[in-house]
Amino acid sequence: MRAIPLTIGLLLLMACHTSQPAVTVTSTHKRAKNIVLLIGDGMGLTQLTAGLYANNNHLNLERFPVIGLHKAYSANDLITDSAAGATAFACGQKTYNGAIAMGTDSLPLTTILEQAEDRGMATGLVATSTIVHATPAAFIAHNKLRQNYEDIAVDFLKTDIDYFVGGGEKFFNARTLDDRDLVKELRSKGYTVSDFRQNDLGRIVLNKQMKFAYFTADEDPPTASQGRDYLPLAADKGVRYLERRSETGYFMMIEGSQIDWGGHANNTQYIIREMLDFDEAIGRVLNLAEKDGETLVIVTADHECGGFSINYGSKMGKIEGKFTTDGHTGDLVPVFAFGPGAERFGGIYENTAIYDKMVQALGWND
Ligand code: MG
Ligand code: ZN
Repeated sequence: MRAIPLTIGLLLLMACHTSQPAVTVTSTHKRAKNIVLLIGDGMGLTQLTAGLYANNNHLNLERFPVIGLHKAYSANDLITDSAAGATAFACGQKTYNGAIAMGTDSLPLTTILEQAEDRGMATGLVATSTIVHATPAAFIAHNKLRQNYEDIAVDFLKTDIDYFVGGGEKFFNARTLDDRDLVKELRSKGYTVSDFRQNDLGRIVLNKQMKFAYFTADEDPPTASQGRDYLPLAADKGVRYLERRSETGYFMMIEGSQIDWGGHANNTQYIIREMLDFDEAIGRVLNLAEKDGETLVIVTADHECGGFSINYGSKMGKIEGKFTTDGHTGDLVPVFAFGPGAERFGGIYENTAIYDKMVQALGWND
């Protein structure tokens, strides 16, 4: 009987003793060591709803504890394109449609990937478009115009990016602007480079001394329904490698590029296949982030595409999609966050705030 008050007394004593460090109860702002930003190009709320109901009412996106919405408009249009959209995430500034990490004054803006490199972090980019396409380009290149693919390819050589996987090899090694062979130049900069001809992405073993570039196509990679299946693999492989590559942490952007192209094509099945491929990559990244506890994972889109809606006649497992346009729309765009700093991503905010919140989560302003 007397043992009970004694135990309580002891607990109180211990509680008093530890009361000072217990101030860290406000540790909701634990710093993120690593960031993986996953962008589903053109992935509005309806695109992910279609993926969800086409997939037996299940998505990895349901595993995220924090959800927000961002305002995607660009500096010169209520309807953004992917270049201005990605520049907002990468640089924290609204710019004009078509600009690759440049402001409205056409001066280059420093990207979060470049800042991460400067701080000794490892960096990576993965896309299911060409790697010089607007979304990945805005994290690493600077150009007035998104279509200047060969110039954008040259910008890759000006950086120390550790890992990139995507299409568009011809912009590196079959150039029309000059005679440079950027694949050769990558190799002489210390990169291990391979491509879809070798088809050895899964077999190549990466050690932390290597840098790695892999081209999945000469131009645009195939669609998921044509058999393209490298996105989950490239995401998983990249996270595991970047984790080992730098003790300072890493920044990685992974894009499901073709959800957007399904929207432009007004093709519901195209959207669903690309959405589920992207969701599988999300699941692989989440599995790793759950284990390490120091990685902030963010999933969002640059904009919606197609004015996509799910209409009467749709059933669980069979979506009847309708479209209002073959272009982008101005809808608010969902944001999902997991890991240290995730709580910052609840609410409604500008697309540029995603950059600000990433920087805050990394503690760069502290
Ligand atoms: Mg894109
Ligand atoms: Zn688009």
